[in-house]
Amino acid sequence: MSHHDVVVLGGGYAGLPAALRLARQVRDDEVSVTLVTAFPDFVERPRLHQVAAGQRIRAVPVADYLDGTAVRPVIGAATAIDPAARTVTVGRDGTRRFIHYDTLVYALGSNVDLAAVPGAARHAYGLVGTDAAAEVRTRLTALAGRTGRVAVCGGGMTGIEIAAEVAESQPGLDVVLVSGSAPGGWLSGRAQRHLARTFAALGVTVRTGRRVREVEHGALVLDQGDRVGFDLCLWAGGFRVPELARAGGLAVNDEGRALVDGTLRSVSHPDVYVIGDAAAVPGSWGAQLAMGCRTGGFTAPAAADAIAARLTGREAAPFHYRYFHECISLGRRHGLVQFLDADGSPKDRILTGRAAIAYKNATLNGAKLFFRHPGPVTARRRRVTASAAPARRLS
Ligand SMILES: Cc1cc2nc3c(=O)[nH]c(=O)nc-3n(C[C@H](O)[C@H](O)[C@H](O)COP(=O)(O)OP(=O)(O)OC[C@H]3O[C@@H](n4cnc5c(N)ncnc54)[C@H](O)[C@@H]3O)c2cc1C
Repeated sequence: MSHHDVVVLGGGYAGLPAALRLARQVRDDEVSVTLVTAFPDFVERPRLHQVAAGQRIRAVPVADYLDGTAVRPVIGAATAIDPAARTVTVGRDGTRRFIHYDTLVYALGSNVDLAAVPGAARHAYGLVGTDAAAEVRTRLTALAGRTGRVAVCGGGMTGIEIAAEVAESQPGLDVVLVSGSAPGGWLSGRAQRHLARTFAALGVTVRTGRRVREVEHGALVLDQGDRVGFDLCLWAGGFRVPELARAGGLAVNDEGRALVDGTLRSVSHPDVYVIGDAAAVPGSWGAQLAMGCRTGGFTAPAAADAIAARLTGREAAPFHYRYFHECISLGRRHGLVQFLDADGSPKDRILTGRAAIAYKNATLNGAKLFFRHPGPVTARRRRVTASAAPARRLS
């Protein structure tokens, strides 16, 4: 068996633990694990609204998590994958390199979709990363002390969290949340009532039932042509996955999420595993898991174990998941934990207030603890078997 190269693309909630867990189960003289990721620091996306609101969130370098492991980091942006040649193109500082793989783990996540309506990319800010969150913080600081309006577009979890955080940190500003459907409309009745009370207490105004057609300089244009003026617009109208999977020829669904089997393997390319937001993972919940670190994080160990099993001559176990909770921060004094049935439907049971904030913090810190202890608890570095020769594309 020749040396086997595993390349993990994306060092986020799915890619980072997948690389770390796989490296614990194979011998590094037989299998190399390379993690390609765009930024030197781990981006804690679920805390970007806190960064935007002016809170200090300690950044942890990806290298810290890899220290003492056999995972080799490459900092750079993947710009293309070529499944036929089994290469990934990675760019950094104007240079370009090609990295070979035998097995690819595609974990490039998703990002705020600023292309959703005309003008959003130009006149609105999306929390697409640490730099964007810092830019929003600067803009909010400049507005503080004046009367001004912040329009938040999108009544999903991200829009709700941003609106609450901004309203709490800048009580002098008028925060309006504009959403086609009721914010948090998927939550239980109890949770929705709690959300409405909290928004009222924080001074967030909700304009619902109207979609944003366009974003202009200083104003949202709604579907019937009326306008909502703003001094700062924050776009949270949904996530979109990178185009690399589709462009590389992987089978994807209409949203561009890669189609995978029960072991997270691409249905078109058996040497490619797709995890996290980038994957459309089928199961008892339907055609795809909801995006989120609470879901995507669980695909990491399953993919790592499946790759290790196949390389070492064992059968890969199928991915199992059950929805359990959804944790929503509503500023630093309020929060909402919605407990879920296994299929993702909301239970009547919720947790609110500071207990919910503590619960959410514990969940996010737990994810980072998992990077330090990615398992398996009794990891055994087995030998690669001759039968683990790289698989070819399914025709
Ligand atoms: C403001 C906000 C709040 C959120 N709150 C929650 C929450 O409370 N709960 C929850 O479950 N989810 C929440 N999410 C969503 C959650 O952050 C994502 O669903 C989760 O991060 C997905 O994990 P992932 O590993 O698939 O992608 P990511 O964590 O985004 O990781 C993708 C990685 O790939 C890297 N990357 C991307 N493109 C390239 C490239 N071309 N080349 C190299 N590297 C690349 C990125 O830099 C990143 O490191 C929130 C998101 C935002 C923006």
